[in-house]
Amino acid sequence: MLEPYADVIIDITHTAVDRVFQYEIPEELSEKVSLGMKIRVPFGQGNRLLDGYIIGFSAKPEYDPLKIKKIESICEDGVAIEGQLVRLAAWMRERYGSTMIQALKTVLPVKKKLKNLERRYLIRKISEEECRELLSFYRKKNQKARVRLLEAFLMDQTLPYEMVVQKLRVSAASVKPFLEQGICALETKNSFRNPFQGEKAEGGSVSLTEEQRLAVEGILSAWETDRRPCYLHGITGSGKTEVYMEVIRRVVAEGKQAIVLIPEISLTWQTVMRFYRQFGERVSIVHSRLSAGEKSDQMERARRGDLDIMIGPRSALFTPFSNLGLIVIDEEHETAYKSETVPKYHAIDTAIERCRLAGAMTILGSATPSATSYYRAQNGEYHFFQMKTRAKEASALPSVEIVDLREELKAGNRGIFSRRLAELMEEALKRKEQILLFLNRRGYAGFVSCRSCGKAVKCPHCDVSLKVHRDGTLKCHYCGHETPIPRICPSCGSSYIAGFGTGTQKVEAMVKELFPEAGVLRMDMDTTSKKGSHDAILSAFADGKADILIGTQMIVKGHDFPRVTLVGILAADLSLYSGGYEAGERTFSLLTQAAGRAGRDSLPGHVVIQSYSPDNYSVEAAASQDYEGFYWHEILYRKLLRYPPVYRMLSLLVTSKEEEEAERMAEVVKRQAESVNEEGALELVGPAKASVAKINDVYRYMFYAKCEEEGPLLELKRRIEALEWDRNVQYQFDME
Ligand code: ADP
Ligand code: ZN
Ligand code: ZN
Repeated sequence: MLEPYADVIIDITHTAVDRVFQYEIPEELSEKVSLGMKIRVPFGQGNRLLDGYIIGFSAKPEYDPLKIKKIESICEDGVAIEGQLVRLAAWMRERYGSTMIQALKTVLPVKKKLKNLERRYLIRKISEEECRELLSFYRKKNQKARVRLLEAFLMDQTLPYEMVVQKLRVSAASVKPFLEQGICALETKNSFRNPFQGEKAEGGSVSLTEEQRLAVEGILSAWETDRRPCYLHGITGSGKTEVYMEVIRRVVAEGKQAIVLIPEISLTWQTVMRFYRQFGERVSIVHSRLSAGEKSDQMERARRGDLDIMIGPRSALFTPFSNLGLIVIDEEHETAYKSETVPKYHAIDTAIERCRLAGAMTILGSATPSATSYYRAQNGEYHFFQMKTRAKEASALPSVEIVDLREELKAGNRGIFSRRLAELMEEALKRKEQILLFLNRRGYAGFVSCRSCGKAVKCPHCDVSLKVHRDGTLKCHYCGHETPIPRICPSCGSSYIAGFGTGTQKVEAMVKELFPEAGVLRMDMDTTSKKGSHDAILSAFADGKADILIGTQMIVKGHDFPRVTLVGILAADLSLYSGGYEAGERTFSLLTQAAGRAGRDSLPGHVVIQSYSPDNYSVEAAASQDYEGFYWHEILYRKLLRYPPVYRMLSLLVTSKEEEEAERMAEVVKRQAESVNEEGALELVGPAKASVAKINDVYRYMFYAKCEEEGPLLELKRRIEALEWDRNVQYQFDME
């Protein structure tokens, strides 16, 4: 390491990482220090020696070089988990573009001051017999406080310390000689708030199917041969979760820990309970509905070694396990694994890097692999395992039919349900079986547009259409701007202005009209805004309290309803027109997941996919559950248009309140990119206004660079970071 100064953080807590101190690296250490390393440094006026972590290096002193202190020594006590997380942060900073502080804040657990975290107990260390003898001794001496304490000890061997002091009014001074004489001991126990409170572990595991056994053995021996990540491609219901649990069992048996990532949306009590039944108190969860304190408790439990398994969404990736053995990423294709805030990391690559640093294995799994992951598996970056049959004996794959909505229109049916779907619904209701109706929310109505000029009512601050809310107002989902529904079109003045209804609510109304007897539940943003309502709706449906569940994306993930025999996908193609090169992939995976909800148990399942473009390859491949067919089509399209995963893409968002400034800087970036691109390895696109050109009165410009190799893009990124950026212009990278 040639730079003479190191940036050091002393206090490794989330809130303290802003305080970075510069230290000089002494000659004799300059070859030895590295990023993330734990070191000892003199600190404060008395030059007390404290532990710190190196988070960066610099060539220049930040103040008078004579006043900069020297690093004292390197701490040799193994690789601390903090050091590993610091190194991970450095990798994220480099790869995804952010400051070191932003990256550190992402990986380091938030430490909250916790109240009542620790409980102290007094524990009787002598026999009952001895206790009685002592009691009569102190009675004679008339020492009332000690008498009360000994009486209490006869009833209970363990007494909460607080109770002894407050209720028995025994002072610390009276307890002290007892402790010294070994009559009792003071112990500290953590009373962490466990989110599982009240549920009991039951144990019991299934015996694996042949396919599952092969996957488990394959994964474990692949890990023995080389340390590439493993990919598990298994159709919905093939029993991937059981495979994960078996591998986790082996990892835990070796004294290591495991992290299981699940998209928030499918983090249901059903999934969580399966893990809890297996691993009991040694498993915990984090999710966005926990308070900061609860989250922090769980991270602390992990750090102390009270847990073996952490389940949670993206951020659970940074659980501070000191001997991590495995990270599982289930439903790896989910977009939720990509962070929306800086650093815009992807959980998959970050997990692989964390595993590399920790010497742990990674398992990715899905029924519908993302094109990127599948491409990598094909190229040998991952070991690949497949499961093609459902795990439960009786459950076969559902039969799927596509209904052409254009034909319905021709036949005069303007309703939401095709004739075929309505017919199947009626039959299922007669047989007292359950129905799922899935509405692809992306792009679905909810806004108001003019029938005369065709324009939708837009937010004045953002370049998006306003959405109709239940209270009859229009709201902007980006900035919160609110306005009543206009009577006349703001663009042309026509009075022919109308809403398109709010999706799920409209479906509910239609169901009630067609099948007034049926019990209906609805699950969408409106009905699940309260804490716990999500689970309440799902358990009500699982308990058979309704015949039909209507919902958006939320209902298709990870649920197992044995009595559902019919799944209706109302408008399959809406997500096809949501824009972006991933639209086809998203549509395919949503349809496949939705279809996979039918016939999970012994009853045969039916799926009806209603579509305006029934011959689209995503829709067709989903109907025939043909992943490979879809994949080859998709990858060809990506190749032709030079999209990821075939090409790497660096996108840059330039924003400013001043439109000209944003535009000017975007142009500067472009010229910089052109100078990097002398050999023509990069394909440059833009700059152009972003698809949402303005949010909250801030203007947005996009610039893209594509390349088969990552190197030139990282170089370009470094050059862009080194440009002179004005204070009123911001930028954000995204590397795909
Ligand atoms: P996936 O995650 O691949 O969709 P799951 O792990 O959720 O599949 O399993 C689907 C269903 O099959 C669950 O109800 C699960 O309990 C059951 N199952 C999984 N493996 C077995 C097995 N080996 N024997 C019996 N039932 C199983
Ligand atoms: Zn108009
Ligand atoms: Zn707005």
